[in-house]
Amino acid sequence: MHIETLKNACKGPVHAAGDADFLDALHGPLWNRLVPTRAPLAIVKATDEDDIIAAVKFARANRLKVAVRGGGHNWCQPSLRNGGLLIDIGAFTKVLSIDVDNRRAVIQPIISNRDVQAALNPLGLAFPTGHCPQVKASGYFLGGGMAWNPTVWGSGAESLEAIELVTAQGELITASETENPDYFWAARGAGSGFFGIVTKYYLKLYALPKAIHGSTSYYRLEDAPVIGTWLGRAAPGMSPSVELSQFIVQAPPHLREATADRNGWLCMVTGAAFDDTPEAARAALQPLETPPVAPLSREVATPLNFEMLFDGSGALWPEGVRARVEATFSNHDPGEMMQAVLPLLSQAPSPTTVFLFTIFCGPNVPAPQKDMALSMHAKVYGGPWTMWWDAKDDAANAAWHRDLITTLRPFNLGYYLGESNTVERPANAIEAFTPEKWRKLCDLRATHDPEGVFFDYFEGLSEP
Ligand SMILES: Cc1cc2nc3c(=O)[nH]c(=O)nc-3n(C[C@H](O)[C@H](O)[C@H](O)COP(=O)(O)OP(=O)(O)OC[C@H]3O[C@@H](n4cnc5c(N)ncnc54)[C@H](O)[C@@H]3O)c2cc1C
Repeated sequence: MHIETLKNACKGPVHAAGDADFLDALHGPLWNRLVPTRAPLAIVKATDEDDIIAAVKFARANRLKVAVRGGGHNWCQPSLRNGGLLIDIGAFTKVLSIDVDNRRAVIQPIISNRDVQAALNPLGLAFPTGHCPQVKASGYFLGGGMAWNPTVWGSGAESLEAIELVTAQGELITASETENPDYFWAARGAGSGFFGIVTKYYLKLYALPKAIHGSTSYYRLEDAPVIGTWLGRAAPGMSPSVELSQFIVQAPPHLREATADRNGWLCMVTGAAFDDTPEAARAALQPLETPPVAPLSREVATPLNFEMLFDGSGALWPEGVRARVEATFSNHDPGEMMQAVLPLLSQAPSPTTVFLFTIFCGPNVPAPQKDMALSMHAKVYGGPWTMWWDAKDDAANAAWHRDLITTLRPFNLGYYLGESNTVERPANAIEAFTPEKWRKLCDLRATHDPEGVFFDYFEGLSEP
């Protein structure tokens, strides 16, 4: 490999293994601070599509495999592979256009959830972004996209109209339902196994819901199973405009004393209603006001906006943590699953950990999805987001997380590729798809990337 040839071909910086700034360039953009030692031979920080094309062609000519880095937020860091060339598209940060009349927008991939919505708020428009403010569109769409208002807007990828991408042959193409449909099908769910580099997303926009209201209730930890069963039974009769979640989290300050016997852990239920009038939002949340056990405290139907929703999510998933995550789909009673993990929950080693089930509302759950690689849809989504700060706590958190996901495994229908550990358990990648969609994805990869230019789910992951 002649690194000078690569440097001459690209406008953006190229960092070779061994350069003084190599590790900063490699690890700086990663969200999860539990950083493995896997490393490429070189990194290209692409400034535009031409840089990506030049880097892909260089990799082909030098028989190097290509890894891609978007926002660096994937919990298990599939952008880190042993060997090959890492193409980092972190400079693709622009909202390119917003067409208010036709409710369309075009964005580059490295725009955060908060920034996408912030550009739309003043125009009275909205988009089904992910929940945490800093996470970027790039890999969010490729995983499928667990979005706000999911039972009305669907997953984020269902609101894509087209993408632009660089192929394994180094060509810039557009893909949609009608143009290069194989790529469009695969990009909506293939996650870290996609065989191309997406440079633009074409979004279908929605009217901004005029009345977003939220209800939050806190229950004792031991009530989590009965509350889970109640929510599971209530959800089909509730309005699809409600996004309903059951959390196990640390108590807010006013409930610390009341939960001291459970190490501060409690059960929190949130409902966010995305409606057009306050009356409709309050009515949609009303079923949450008659629980089978009394809450420790509650706030009912508070007016919210997207900024406040992002602030709330951002507080639960703070920056700078070390983390292990396993998001799964299930059709089981959430109360039954809460009962199974209850003995472990009060023993969680780190107070930053979040355990979460989203219970989808409305009569048509699971709803049919568009035909795309994303396969999983079920009544319940979630699992543990195990998060801690210090390296000295790595082993305790890893052991607790392993016990929890092993306990949940019999209930799992499959995994969410965007938020599960395909590095330590490669079977999670396969189990994120139905067998038919997995076969189709493998066939498309073989057709469109026959030389294996892009790393697949499994290559380059063992620690050197
Ligand atoms: C705090 C937090 C909250 C989250 N909340 C949500 C949520 O609400 N909903 C949800 O669905 N997900 C959520 N996620 C998961 C997140 O969307 C995925 O992990 C996603 O992969 C992150 O995108 P990224 O571009 O940062 O990924 P990266 O880590 O940069 O990339 C991961 C892999 O994706 C592929 N990739 C990324 N971008 C491209 C591209 N442009 N072209 C080709 N391949 C690419 C590459 O194979 C790469 O190795 C959350 C993650 C975090 C850290």
